[in-house]
Amino acid sequence: MISTSLQPLEAPSPAFICPFDQACSYLDAAARELKLDQGLLEILSRPRKVVTVSLPVKRDNGEIQVLAGHRVQHCDVLGPYKGGIRYHPAVTLREVSALAMLMTWKCALLGIPYGGAKGGIAIDPKSYSVGELERITRRYTSELIDNIGPSVDIPAPDMGTSAREMAWMMDTYSVNVGHAVPGVVTGKPLSIGGSRGREMATGRGTMIIVREALAELGQSLEGTRVAIQGFGNVGNAAALLLHQAGAIVVAVSNSAGGVYSEVGLDIPALKAYAAKNRGSVVGFPQALAISNDELLTLPCDVLIPAALENQISEENVDQVQAKIVAEAANGPVTLEASQALEARGVTILPDILTNAGGVVVSYLEWVQGLSYLFWDEERVNRELENLMVQAYQQVIHHAKKRQMSLRLAAYTLGVGRVAQALLDRGLYP
Ligand code: GLU
Repeated sequence: MISTSLQPLEAPSPAFICPFDQACSYLDAAARELKLDQGLLEILSRPRKVVTVSLPVKRDNGEIQVLAGHRVQHCDVLGPYKGGIRYHPAVTLREVSALAMLMTWKCALLGIPYGGAKGGIAIDPKSYSVGELERITRRYTSELIDNIGPSVDIPAPDMGTSAREMAWMMDTYSVNVGHAVPGVVTGKPLSIGGSRGREMATGRGTMIIVREALAELGQSLEGTRVAIQGFGNVGNAAALLLHQAGAIVVAVSNSAGGVYSEVGLDIPALKAYAAKNRGSVVGFPQALAISNDELLTLPCDVLIPAALENQISEENVDQVQAKIVAEAANGPVTLEASQALEARGVTILPDILTNAGGVVVSYLEWVQGLSYLFWDEERVNRELENLMVQAYQQVIHHAKKRQMSLRLAAYTLGVGRVAQALLDRGLYP
């Protein structure tokens, strides 16, 4: 395996699972399958550009705090770099680098003309005021001004960021270059060129992939028992759409804890409750309190980890009871746990397919902006549906043909397309 040339910025703890090494292991497996040339593999194993900027920000109490802001641009062989900006305390350069690589394969798999990138700042956004978050976001954007742009690198929301941060980024970039540039980010508010359907897009994509996987087994969403870890932008939308399609959402959690109901949670009521409780589902009436760990091992048909990486590992994999694990988060199942689940016949719907709905509608937003023509939500959802179902069918077809897991099939297709483009473009000089 090719190891990373990235230096850790922090000393890893003994139980540390390096997300970048894990991403490289998946790449290596796809490369073996594709019989990829060693030189090509080395190119694809490293990010093309790693930027870390220092962000001095004034807190509301007058103190100056200096944060580190990262942007990793993994590969732009297929088009401009694309990927979200994460605000979360667990952000590290290694994590951002791994997520940037996943974006490359995700865009290639979905057939959208982008490369892969990711950005992040290690902060808990809940500990900062709106004014502080605005200053952090604007300074971060201005430090990255030469590295982003509508045909260079297009940021979007990720964990801890939303349309609000994208509006600040768009404004800062536009003011710096002297004219409005809506295409520099996606996931913007509708008022400045955002797309209808973007907010629900990742959850909608997850619902579509789960629906297709059930259909493959001759089942439907109706009556299927689902547990969802994470009630942020992704988990929340997936829960609502699955509930509307007739699935029984038995459990949901957020970082503070979870709730369980044997007969199924009333998701619209739970959403309203969480909205009043700063996103927390804890204390929702007519449900039992459960922990995040308990949620992962509940009896259910479909388990949807929609929060952080490495949630299902060697420690808890033996207790997972679901028949389908749909990776709405990036990398929620470790390599070892994936192998254990697959050996037991559990279907894992891989992250680069299952959570691709967000970047697909980001692409649709960018296309609408470039053509100055905006679509209604029905059209956006229809285009999303087509691209998701097409990618799902390609993955399932490839997996059957080559007798491999859906993950390996998805990676082989994504990596294979990027490698082919690299071969066709050739090396400069
Ligand atoms: N953050 C999302 C992802 O991980 C969306 C990225 C985008 O829209 O560019 O796929």
